[in-house]
Amino acid sequence: MSKDMVGRVCDKCKTRPAVVYQKHSGRFLCKECFIEDIIERIRREVEKWRMIEPGDTILLAVSGGKDSFVLLDVMPQIHDPSKLIALSIVEGIEGYNRAEDIEKMKKYAMERGVDFIKTSFKEFIGASLDELVKRAWDRGLNVSPCTFCGTLRRRIMNYYARNLGVDKVATAHNLDDEVQTLLLNILRGDRMRLIQSHPRAPVLSTRIVRKIKPLRKIYEWEATMYAFLKGFKFQETECRYIYLRPTLRAKVRDHLYALEEESPGSLLRILENMDEILWKLIGTHRKLPSLPVCKKCGEPTSYGRELCKVCELLEKIGIY
Ligand SMILES: [Zn+2]
Ligand SMILES: [Zn+2]
Repeated sequence: MSKDMVGRVCDKCKTRPAVVYQKHSGRFLCKECFIEDIIERIRREVEKWRMIEPGDTILLAVSGGKDSFVLLDVMPQIHDPSKLIALSIVEGIEGYNRAEDIEKMKKYAMERGVDFIKTSFKEFIGASLDELVKRAWDRGLNVSPCTFCGTLRRRIMNYYARNLGVDKVATAHNLDDEVQTLLLNILRGDRMRLIQSHPRAPVLSTRIVRKIKPLRKIYEWEATMYAFLKGFKFQETECRYIYLRPTLRAKVRDHLYALEEESPGSLLRILENMDEILWKLIGTHRKLPSLPVCKKCGEPTSYGRELCKVCELLEKIGIY
């Protein structure tokens, strides 16, 4: 607790001692009011964009991290827990997402009345992320582990979602992630992805299950604080490929932190305004045709491509 917090009373309930300073709202909050604020903002965001319909079954994509914990903790408070299924995907990175981390998430899910299933890269395509990366590097290929990881995680999530017959897949992306992605898409001029990032963007294939991001208006520090206040035990190790993370994203993240520091609430305002602009655009945009399917695996791929990203990657490294 910082010095200026000592002796402060919560600005909301005016009774309990404050433990958090929420810079973007200018309020000091107690533990209970802070937790309630996070849950209410998630609920409002979910309702605003009608992310969930009554009776929807939802697959929760959980890793071992704090954002996943928040998703797993909040969703059963805003939707029927018997309609939620947590899916944990083990990438197979040495020292990361170990068996005990997965067991911990399973325990959290069970305690909240949420079904839990797990799978792994190894189980799904026959190789762990470490093995895939090694194969690529042995061949002198310059493929980032994050590309493998992200592409495969999305494929596995969608595959499970479709086969389980769920209505939505919820991921734990937070506000910081969302605004970084928004700016990256603008910097790259990728208007298609920009539009597709909107919570009400059209789903471009019947083989794709709609993705929702309930935490998209929650700052990363808030997710960390929520998990901490709720007694979540943090994963101690970081992914061994962290030093290979895309550099442009890291730069954008640093600039956004500086902006937020100088003008608290900036990230929220960027996302809220872009949401409205893109929403209008989606309303007036011509209907896009359905995505083509990969000629190898039959999964949807991008316009103008014959192979999907997964098949392309696996072919490059001699699997398939
Ligand atoms: Zn309070
Ligand atoms: Zn394919």
